[in-house]
Amino acid sequence: MQGVTTSLSVDDYRARIASLVPPAPVVLLPTDECLGRVLGADVVAPVALPPFDNSAMDGYAVRAADVAGAERHAAVALPVPVDIPAGRTDIVPLLPSTAHRIMTGAPVPPGADAIVKVEDTDGGVERVAVRAPVEPGTHIRRAGEDVAEGATVLRAGTVLGAAQLSLAAAVGRAELPVYRPVRVLVLSTGTELVVPGNPLLHGQIYESNSVLLAAAVREIGGTATVLRAVPDDVEQFHAAVKAHPDADVLVTSGGVSAGAYEVVKDALTGRGVEFMRVAIQPGGPQGSGRFGELPVVSLPGNPVSTALTFELFLRPALLSAMGHAEVDRPRTRAAVTEDLRSPAGKRQYRRARLDGSSVTPVGGPGSHLLASFAASDCLIEVPEDVTEVPAGADVEILLLR
Ligand code: AMP
Ligand code: MG
Repeated sequence: MQGVTTSLSVDDYRARIASLVPPAPVVLLPTDECLGRVLGADVVAPVALPPFDNSAMDGYAVRAADVAGAERHAAVALPVPVDIPAGRTDIVPLLPSTAHRIMTGAPVPPGADAIVKVEDTDGGVERVAVRAPVEPGTHIRRAGEDVAEGATVLRAGTVLGAAQLSLAAAVGRAELPVYRPVRVLVLSTGTELVVPGNPLLHGQIYESNSVLLAAAVREIGGTATVLRAVPDDVEQFHAAVKAHPDADVLVTSGGVSAGAYEVVKDALTGRGVEFMRVAIQPGGPQGSGRFGELPVVSLPGNPVSTALTFELFLRPALLSAMGHAEVDRPRTRAAVTEDLRSPAGKRQYRRARLDGSSVTPVGGPGSHLLASFAASDCLIEVPEDVTEVPAGADVEILLLR
C-alpha cells in the first residue's frame, strides 16, 4: 500500500496510542461536575459525621433515670419547657425531671442521655406522658460514629459515583481534586460530507463520525470540540487545527487510506504523524503521532471503522489519562449462532447481540454498516490465527453496554 511504513498488531498499536495521550492534570472542580471522574488525591473529612450527637427519632430528650418506671398504663408525666427542631443552633440544657421535645437530626441537649420516641408518649406539647422506659443512649446518633474528624473518606483513584459525591458533600466539600477532562478536538474530513439539517445532493452523505466520536468522548468524561465536514484540502485542514490550540488530543476521521485526496495523510505525513496498517478488521488504516506538541490519532472514515477503532485504541488511552485503572470493557464467552469467516493474520471484530449464553452476529463484517453497529450490544473478537469459526463454537465477547 502506498505510504505504508509499518504494520502493527492490535496490541502493539493499542500500546502506541496509550503512550501518546499524556495524563490529564489534577484540578479542583465543583462536586456537581465530578460525576464519573477519578479522584486525584485523598479526601479528608474536615468535620466529623455526624458533627454532633443528634436524635435518631422524633420524640423527647430525657434522662433515662427519670422515666425508668414508665409503663403503658403507668405513664411518667414530665413538663416540656423547650422544643428542639432540626437546625436549632443554640444550646438548651435539659434540667432533671423535664423533657425537651426533639425532632430527628436535632442536637441532643446536654443533660439528656436518651430519646423516647413519640410513639411511646401521648405527644404532649406543654407536658408529656411517657409510657415506656428507655436505656441510656437509646436513639442517639453519636458525633463521629459514621466518620471521625480528620479521617480519609475517599482515596485517590476512586471513581466518583452518586454515593461518593454525597459523602464528599456530607463532610462539607464543595470542590474535589479530580483528573481534568481530556480536551479532544474532533475533526472529520471529507468533501462529500454534509452536516445534518442541510439538503443532500447526489454524491453527498450526512456527516456522522464526529457525532459518534464526540459522544463517545463525553460518555467517558472528556470534552469534545467538533469540527464537522472539513473539506479534503490540506490548507483548510491545517487552518482548522491551528484555530484550536488548547486541545489535548486531535482525533480525525477519514483521509488516511490508499486513495487520492487523503487529506489527513497529506496534511500530516512528514510532520510527526505516521500512517500505517494495523492487523485489524475493520479499521486497518491508521495514523498517529505528534503534530508539533499535539498528540494526533487519525482514524479511518468508514463509520464502523471509526467507531470500533476509537473503542479499541483511543477509549482506553483517554480513560487512563483521566486516572481510570479499569479501561477495558468487560469480557465474556458465548456460543456463536452462525459460521464466521475471518481474514488470516488480522484480528476481526464483529458486531453482535448477546442473548444469555449465545451470541448472534448483526450484519456482515463490512465497515460501512452503521445500522448494525447501533443494533449491537457486544463485539465478537476473532483472533488473528483463526479464519473459520463454526456455528456453536465458543467465542470471545466484549460487552459494549
Ligand atoms: P475515507 O476514510 O475518508 O476514505 O472514508 C471512507 C468512507 O467513509 C467513505 O465512504 C466516506 O464517505 C465515509 N466517511 C468518511 N468520513 C465520514 C463521516 N465523518 N461521516 C460519515 N461517513 C464518513
Ligand atoms: Mg475521505
